[in-house]
Amino acid sequence: MTEPTMRAMRRTAAGAELVEIPVRAPGTGQVRLAVLAAGVCHSDLHVVDAPVAWELPFTLGHEVCGRVVETGPGVDPALLGRQVVVYAPYGCGDCARCRDGAANYCDHRRTLPAAGVGLGIDGGMADEVVVDAWRLVSAERLDPAFAAALTDAGLTSFHAVSGSLDRLDRPDALAVVIGVGGLGHLAVGILRRLTEAQVIGVDSRPEAVALARECGATAAVAPEDAADAVATMSKGRGADLVIDCVGAQATEELAASVLRPAGDLVIVGSGGGALPLSKPGPLPSGARVRLPFWGTRPELVALVDLARTGGLRTRVTEFGLDEAPSVFDDLRRGRITGRAVLVPPATKS
Ligand code: NAD
Ligand code: ZN
Ligand code: ZN
Repeated sequence: MTEPTMRAMRRTAAGAELVEIPVRAPGTGQVRLAVLAAGVCHSDLHVVDAPVAWELPFTLGHEVCGRVVETGPGVDPALLGRQVVVYAPYGCGDCARCRDGAANYCDHRRTLPAAGVGLGIDGGMADEVVVDAWRLVSAERLDPAFAAALTDAGLTSFHAVSGSLDRLDRPDALAVVIGVGGLGHLAVGILRRLTEAQVIGVDSRPEAVALARECGATAAVAPEDAADAVATMSKGRGADLVIDCVGAQATEELAASVLRPAGDLVIVGSGGGALPLSKPGPLPSGARVRLPFWGTRPELVALVDLARTGGLRTRVTEFGLDEAPSVFDDLRRGRITGRAVLVPPATKS
């Protein structure tokens, strides 16, 4: 009998390739998921375009929604048939951070063999994926593509915003989101859901500027108009919070220049920019700088609950798993608005 195989978009020595690989059975404490949707993140491009420290090959896909089709030893069979999302950050499982559900800040992060499911170990850009059962968060009755996007684009944005809520706890607070892509458009929506702050979305692409408005931004502008918009809306004070979802030299400099004294600069994007941490320097007095990575499992549970209550406007576009190579290309060329999500045809409605 021939071994069953499936398609998978893998990080190989050649870059990223859609290949056929064997289907794996779940081990102890694991489940096998039929993938319903897997988001395509800009981090996937960083992982494909630059050398990585992890063992190759592995299947990409760190934003996963699936249905449990097999439980391994030690896993409650009642999970069979459930629609779930995957809390994907990789941790040692043993340190205080991991035990608190914050594998994203595992004390051993620098020496771990992977950063997450789909980032060093097999992820969800495939027909099926095997994951640890403890990673599952119930996602019944949510649209699978939307649910998948919540696990990183949503979770990272939720975590980024949550850590700066104290800066926005005033009636005339102003938040700026630079880069209104997969992460940024969810950051705009989450800011609108969690705070009363005015929100300015900034992006170099007109379609992303329009998306920021659709997601509830008070104003949305191109980068060259951002300083004027911040000055006008804050009456010259500056922004209480800037979330930079690009992290390039130009966006970090823009972020620092529009920040209010004692404001928060939150750098989410990995675009290669660098700001000197000097006094005096580009950052205003009292600035607090945060470099958030992903989010915690309790935050994912809270975000899924928030999403169920509605009102979180998102733009998720479905593509077939076979289209993965062209979707990567489109994301690289700035042709994706919101989040692209791969949907294996067997489950595509
Ligand atoms: P994306 O490609 O979907 O969105 C990026 C957006 O930024 C696009 O709309 C693009 O037009 C805009 N942009 C690019 N350069 C710009 C500039 N100079 N000025 C204004 N706008 C600009 O990407 P994404 O999936 O949202 O990821 C964004 C970044 O966040 C990536 O670097 C990714 O690796 C990183 N990321 C970080 C974390 C984390 O935990 N910190 C998690 C996920 C992704
Ligand atoms: Zn990501
Ligand atoms: Zn740990």
